[in-house]
Amino acid sequence: MDENKLLKEFNSEIDSAFQKAWHCERGGDENWNNFLNTYSVTPLSKENKDFLLNSEMKIVRGAFPIELRRIYEKILEKYRILESSSPLLSSALSKFDMEAKVKEYYQKIKPFTGLGDIFKNAATGTQKYSQGLQQAKQKTMTCKNCGAPRLEEMQYDNCLFCGSKLFEIKE
Ligand SMILES: [Zn+2]
Repeated sequence: MDENKLLKEFNSEIDSAFQKAWHCERGGDENWNNFLNTYSVTPLSKENKDFLLNSEMKIVRGAFPIELRRIYEKILEKYRILESSSPLLSSALSKFDMEAKVKEYYQKIKPFTGLGDIFKNAATGTQKYSQGLQQAKQKTMTCKNCGAPRLEEMQYDNCLFCGSKLFEIKE
């Protein structure tokens, strides 16, 4: 296959996953679940979805970022097998910045608060959360990518909201 075509196919598959996620109902819907299924990605459990929908990580539309990340991972996996036949594809794969892509998606599904308010709101949320945790004498672990708090009582390695492995401690 000519290598330009491979690169185009890769880009359009990434893009259509983004569009599907963005256009589904808030928190996912049946079409989105079917789409996840075609990539053998398991949707978040209902328990986790309910938890996220009630968390401070507000979204106004679309699937949860962690599910889109899982799709992206599958797409990358699929094209990595072909990369030796296309330097163009290979370079696109190595330049693919997962954290940035997932964050870009998150920016599209969160409520619009105006540019000035984004950081203010984030700070208020974190502060409120920190206060709660200080009462419980714990440190706040937050996702470095999306800012979601990591809850100790829930056992998971990656951010439940966006799937990132990167956490930082907020004092
Ligand atoms: Zn996150």
